[in-house]
Order: sequence, then C-alpha cells, then structure tokens
Amino acid sequence: MADVRKAGIVGWPVTHSLSPKLHRYWLDKYRIPGEYVALAVEPENLAHKISALPKQGFCGFNVTVPHKEKIMPLLDAVDEAARAIGAVNMVTITQGKMQGTNSDGYGFIASLKQGGMPKFKNKAVVLGAGGAAKAVVKMLGNEGFSHIVIVCRVLEKGIRIRDGAFGKNKNITVEPWERRAETLADADLLVNATSLGMQSGAALKIDLQWLPGAATVMDLIYAPLETPLLAQAKARGNAAIDGLGMLMHQAVPAFEAWFGVRPEVDQATREHLLHA
Ligand code: NAP
Repeated sequence: MADVRKAGIVGWPVTHSLSPKLHRYWLDKYRIPGEYVALAVEPENLAHKISALPKQGFCGFNVTVPHKEKIMPLLDAVDEAARAIGAVNMVTITQGKMQGTNSDGYGFIASLKQGGMPKFKNKAVVLGAGGAAKAVVKMLGNEGFSHIVIVCRVLEKGIRIRDGAFGKNKNITVEPWERRAETLADADLLVNATSLGMQSGAALKIDLQWLPGAATVMDLIYAPLETPLLAQAKARGNAAIDGLGMLMHQAVPAFEAWFGVRPEVDQATREHLLHA
C-alpha cells in the first residue's frame, strides 16, 4: 500500500474550518494517498497535543484561532515570515522537528492578483490592526503601494505595525477609527482586515461615499461570502474581492510542502467549497 501522508488543522473550535474540505478536494483531484483531519485542541492542551503529532505520523498541520501566536514558542523553529507577522498558520514536520511559517500574506496577495490588482498603487487603506492586518500591510508595502493607511481603534496597535513592517522607510500612516470614511478619498484599494462583518458578529459600519469609483474593495471575511461591505461596494460599481480566494491561496504552500504537488486555485475549487 502506498504511504499515506497525514496532515490536519489545529484550532478551538475547529468544526467551522473549510480547510479539511479544501485539502480533501485537492488530495482527490491529484490522486494523492493522504489525509487531512480537524484536530480540536483546547488552549490548555496545546503543548502536549502538538508534541504528539510527529510520533503520530503527521507531516504538518495548519494552525487557526486561538493558537496562532501561542504556538510559536512551542515549535523547533519559526521562519522570518511568521516572525514578521507574529503568528504561525502552518507547521511542517521534518524528521520529528516542527517548523512554523505564515502563508496568510502570500494568500492575500495571490488572491488580490487573481481578483484584479488595482491599476494604480498610490494609496491603500487597511481597516484593522490585528494579525491579518499586519500581513496585509507588509505585503502591500512589498507590492509597491506608495501610501498605506492603517485605520484602527487602538492607535498604538497600528503604530506598532507601521514601525515593525518597514521601519520608517515606507509611507505608512495611522488614522483613528472615527476617520475611516474620509480616509477613503483617493484610495486605490480598501481592505477590511477587521473581524467586523462576520456572520455571527458585529457589523462593519462604513460610509463609502469618499471612495473613488475605480477603487477595489477586498474583504478578508469569507463567511458570509458577500459581506455588507462588498455588497455596498458592488452597488456603487467598485470591484469587489471576497475572502474565499485568500483562504484557498494560503493553503497552497502547505499542500505543496506536505503532499508534494502545487495545487491550482481555480473556479472548480471555489465551486467545490461553496457547495461543501
Ligand atoms: P484579530 O487579530 O483578532 O484582529 C481583528 C481586528 O479587528 C483588530 O484590529 C480589532 O481591533 C478589529 N476590530 C474588532 N472589532 C472592532 C470594532 N468594533 N471596531 C473596530 N475594530 C474592530 O483577527 P485577525 O486574525 O487579524 O483576522 C481578522 C479577520 O480576517 C477575521 O475576520 C478573519 O476571519 C479574517 N481572516 C481571513 C483569512 C482568509 O484566509 N480569508 C485569513 C486570516 C484572517 P482591536 O485590535 O482594537 O481589538
């Protein structure tokens, strides 16, 4: 029998995760004898549960809330991408050693490119200053946006991202949450990297009247797929990109590292997840 490679996702709770469905779809598509399982791990059991995974034959695992930061000191190594963001979302196990990285930034930019990179990269506005926002700001800076505005309710968090991402070498400014509408003037891109707008949570209240018609709006949230922000953007003619693309793309480096094939993120993959 062919060697069955085993991977999974560690979170609490983890039942809502689409990752098992996504990896199963690719395993079947590429006819790879592999498994990808959901591992519900309570925060107090994280250290001993993950230390058992190499012995249980796992070649890697994804990490989701609430473990993305807490897992870092428990790993044998953490690379630059994860350190820059301060969170790990993917671990590869080689000869019993666990190496953590972060593919959210990659997933974000790959999805933005697939959905349509704005023609001009003069100004990007990022809502939020959490883990995802940190990855987004870093990638937008690397991508050549000349001015990035972080809009958040705790200014210190935005300032920490600004100073941590590029030192003082980039034009990154931080604006208070109350100014989120006016800040949209002249923007080429608006990214919602807050948790506002999720199915079960509070709504994102933002007036888009200052946003230019040619701007692109991207929401990292994928449940619901069409957030009120994206619906509002589409209604006024802005290009809109949902969070499902980022979710699929961030899984590409993991699948390749663990199962040896670089999977394609295409319409069929998307349809599969939408119906799953
Ligand atoms: P996080 O670290 O908890 O950050 C959440 C951010 O939202 C924080 O900046 C928080 O502000 C802000 N926020 C929450 N409530 C707010 C409010 N009432 N007013 C203003 N700001 C508010 O979470 P994360 O990991 O960055 O994730 C953010 C979102 O991105 C989540 O919805 C997540 O599902 C999504 N995401 C999607 C993907 C994907 O693959 N599509 C990947 C990663 C994340 P404070 O700091 O002040 O609390």
